[in-house]
Formats: sequence, C-alpha cells, structure tokens
Amino acid sequence: MRIVLLGAPGAGKGTQAKKLIDKYGIPQISTGDILRQNVAEGTPLGKEAKSYMDKGELVPDRVVLGLVEDRLKKDDCKKGYILDGFPRNTKQAEELDKMLASLDMSLTAALSVDVPFEDLMKRLTGRRTCKACGQMFNIYFNAPKKEGVCDKCGKELFQRDDDKEATIKKRLEVYNAQTAPLMDYYGKKGMVKSVQGTGSIDDIFKKVCEVLGLK
Ligand code: AMP
Repeated sequence: MRIVLLGAPGAGKGTQAKKLIDKYGIPQISTGDILRQNVAEGTPLGKEAKSYMDKGELVPDRVVLGLVEDRLKKDDCKKGYILDGFPRNTKQAEELDKMLASLDMSLTAALSVDVPFEDLMKRLTGRRTCKACGQMFNIYFNAPKKEGVCDKCGKELFQRDDDKEATIKKRLEVYNAQTAPLMDYYGKKGMVKSVQGTGSIDDIFKKVCEVLGLK
C-alpha cells in the first residue's frame, strides 16, 4: 500500500494514518511531524522551517522535498508508506511523481478525507497531542479523561503552536489556494478514493479500509 492522504488541516488525516500503521505496519511519513521534530531539536532546517510554520505558510519546496526523498529511501518504506501532509502543492506532487518513478515505488491511491469547512476550526483549536506518545485528543469531541493528561500513557498534552486561531485561518487559506487543487491532479489520474471524515474515528477507519480495498 503506497498512498498519499489528501484533506484539509484538521480533517483527521493523521489519526487515520496512525490507525493504518497500527493495523498494517507500514510507516507514516508526516512532513509536519518531521519538521516539528527538527524545530524541537533546533536543527538549522528546523530554524528555517519555524518562521513559515508559525505563520501558517508552507515551508519552501526544496526543504520538504529533500526530507521526503531521504525518508522514502529508508528500508521500512519498501513494504509501503503513507504520505501525510505531503504533497501540499502541484509542484511537490510533480516532483514526488518523478522521485517515485526513479525509486520504482509509485503510488497506489490518493485517499481524501472530506470534512465540512465549518467543522475544521473546532477540530483544530480543540486539538491536543501527547508529548510522549503522540496520541491525539480533542477537547470538544474526544476529551482526555483528565484535562491536560494523556489517557494512553499519562504524560502531558500540548497544543501545537500553529493550532492557534490566527494561524489556523492562514493554514486553511493556504490549503484552499495551494493544496485543494491536488484533488484534480490525482483525480485526472483516476487515483482519488474519498471518505467522509465525520462520525466516529473507528467508523471512518472502516470506510477508509473499504475504499482502499483492505481486509
Ligand atoms: P501539518 O502538521 O501537516 O499540518 O503541517 C504543519 C506545518 O508544517 C504546515 O502549516 C507547514 O508550515 C509545514 N508543512 C508540513 N508539510 C509541508 C509540506 N509538504 N510543504 C510545505 N510545508 C509543510
């Protein structure tokens, strides 16, 4: 299974990717996670990326493309991969196609998780993530049993810097202008499989497995 996840910020792509990893053991390549890790470690790449991320803008293509190429060459990607948050614009999608052709690991599907625009804001402002295990919660829809504490491992939850209201607005604008056209890009290739991203996480996951033809 080699897929890209399409869908707006807050559509639940990361949550569904994590469920696919748990069930099928293939790696999730989240450019957002890799960038955040670089920011946390204070690497030169992280320092460059942070200014864009804090504003809700896209990090330059050259930075992200290098990261993805390095990651795809790792051994664990031989059994498949889930690209989450990449590509984010047509240029990245074209470069990805070239990269995958040369690595002989082209995509099987583009999975689109569709959520009405009005719901995205609450999903993003309510999102909380565990510092230790990455488990995600939402204070409106899927609150942790104890405020600020992860149900799974007991460690502290945090709100991403770019999940604050002003940045979210910008991220959604950037999505509409630059990322939404990818539906067309992959649609023309007949690769798009869509699921409604509303309802329970498990129900959405069932639909994801169905459209991807997974058992
Ligand atoms: P995400 O976690 O996917 O929502 O990404 C958080 C932020 O990281 C985005 O708002 C961008 O600033 C940056 N980012 C993540 N993936 C990409 C990408 N493929 N291209 C450019 N910037 C990205």
